Amino acid sequence: MELEERIAAVKEQIAAAARAAGRNPEEITLCAATKVQSEDTIRRAIAAGIGVCGENRVQELNAHLEEGAYQGAEVHFIGHLQRNKVKYVVGRVSLIQSVAGEELLALIEKQAAKLGIVQDILIEVNIGAEETKSGATPEQAHHLAELAGQMEHIRLRGLMAIPPAAAQEGENRRFFAEMRRLFVDMAGKKYDNESTMDILSMGMSRDFGDAIAEGATLVRIGTGLFGPRPANRAQG
Ligand SMILES: *Cc1c(COP(=O)(O)O)cnc(C)c1O
Repeated sequence: MELEERIAAVKEQIAAAARAAGRNPEEITLCAATKVQSEDTIRRAIAAGIGVCGENRVQELNAHLEEGAYQGAEVHFIGHLQRNKVKYVVGRVSLIQSVAGEELLALIEKQAAKLGIVQDILIEVNIGAEETKSGATPEQAHHLAELAGQMEHIRLRGLMAIPPAAAQEGENRRFFAEMRRLFVDMAGKKYDNESTMDILSMGMSRDFGDAIAEGATLVRIGTGLFGPRPANRAQG
């Protein structure tokens, strides 16, 4: 299949999953995980209807921004953000999906203040409690939301999760359900009255159907759109 056909197919699968869950397909945003893709491929994807690109490396983000590759789409940062790279991301992406610590939160606030902007963020939750993964525990997520609520240049929009790589289909559904409960719980607490907790980012190529069934409002899809990545970049 060509890229254009895969994009159309994935969109149809998202819509079908939404309808099956009694949801409006328009509630769900497709974020194309564009890591390792070329400028041309990104442009082609946007021309074919991709409205949000997700980058997880600062270097690639900057290169593509310089090329103007994302023209016509929004860009989100979805990868691990190192402290010394915060200044290359804040204000350049519409949403930082991967905020998992107090220090990073404070640095984003500082940079956003310097630029005189409000940066939208998500808190990344390590819902499978995996040692090798970054992401806040649910408890830490509550604490981060409370801190974010006191920061003038940060707007907390919701939560993001990358559950453990599932060995079997359906295995991650309970993690998605847990995320949904945490999301509803945190939104109800109104840590920041000016914030809108309206984004629950979960589900990738292999499991976005389950994520949508459990309430995802944004799915991040790479291989399902672009085909397999080189093995050494499979995890991003
Ligand atoms: C690469 C990546 C994805 C997409 O993964 P696929 O399995 O290729 O769909 C989603 N989220 C993040 C954070 C990623 O780095």
